[in-house]
Amino acid sequence: MSGDEELNLLVIVVDTNPIWWGKQALGGSEFTLTKCLDAAMVLGNSHLFMNRKNKLAVIASHIQESRFLYPGKHWTAADLFGEAGESNISGSKDGKYELLTTINETIAEEVKDLMTQTEIRAQQTETLLAGSLAKALCYIHRMMKEGKVSQEIKSRILVIKAAEDSALQYMNFMNVIFAAQKQNILIDACVLDSDSGLLQQACDITGGIYLKVPYMPSLLQYLLCVYLPDQEQRSQLILPPPVHVDYRAACFCHRNLIEIGYVCSVCLSIFCSFSPICTTCETAFKISLPAVMKAKKKKLKLAV
Ligand SMILES: [Zn+2]
Ligand SMILES: [Zn+2]
Repeated sequence: MSGDEELNLLVIVVDTNPIWWGKQALGGSEFTLTKCLDAAMVLGNSHLFMNRKNKLAVIASHIQESRFLYPGKHWTAADLFGEAGESNISGSKDGKYELLTTINETIAEEVKDLMTQTEIRAQQTETLLAGSLAKALCYIHRMMKEGKVSQEIKSRILVIKAAEDSALQYMNFMNVIFAAQKQNILIDACVLDSDSGLLQQACDITGGIYLKVPYMPSLLQYLLCVYLPDQEQRSQLILPPPVHVDYRAACFCHRNLIEIGYVCSVCLSIFCSFSPICTTCETAFKISLPAVMKAKKKKLKLAV
């Protein structure tokens, strides 16, 4: 391998929606959030092990916030780039690689803290996935600015998604996808439960892999086989075939998926039925009445 290998940054976004995971547990499923996080940690550790220049970040996508599980607030750029001082890395106790132990402990602590702080309110039940992805993009951008500029950073985001799509986040989500595409950042999605139209589009546009896990307890195997290889290695592997992408957009009025609709010429909001004022940007449209109606009016006047 050459000396100046590029930096490979993997950002894992895990859906920690407590309502969805709570329902799973109530439904008698043995696949808990802990197991999901364990699998994500193994993937993260493996990614770091593949190359000493590989970098990792883990974000929890929750219902009230998106939180960095790793690196936490007290990690500095020097820690992450391994230049000086190993202040956060305690000595090895059992022969394991210290950095991995520290990362796993940090993640476990942060999740615990996140869960104990959660107050479940009736109106907030959706995972803030678009926000988490935006946070991931900002982090990648920061790493590019703070890191050694001469080095190229290859970045990808892996979303492990549990809860249903939120049509309310449609706009933010699409903005994030296009931002990622512009920055050449791959978005991969590993979906645990119901298919996600938004993530299908995200993967298709950015060149990532979308996979709905057929059997949840085997999550780790899917993560390691499909998502550990980077973009270049993937071309040499036989991976799950691309899914049929549902490119329908959700209308802003009812959140229905539509093929043909009305688009506001100012803010590009989509509506399934015509309304004279855009509910998003409040633009009033000048309506030119169809010719048939005008003709009818004339006829009426003549009759009078
Ligand atoms: Zn509608
Ligand atoms: Zn509008």
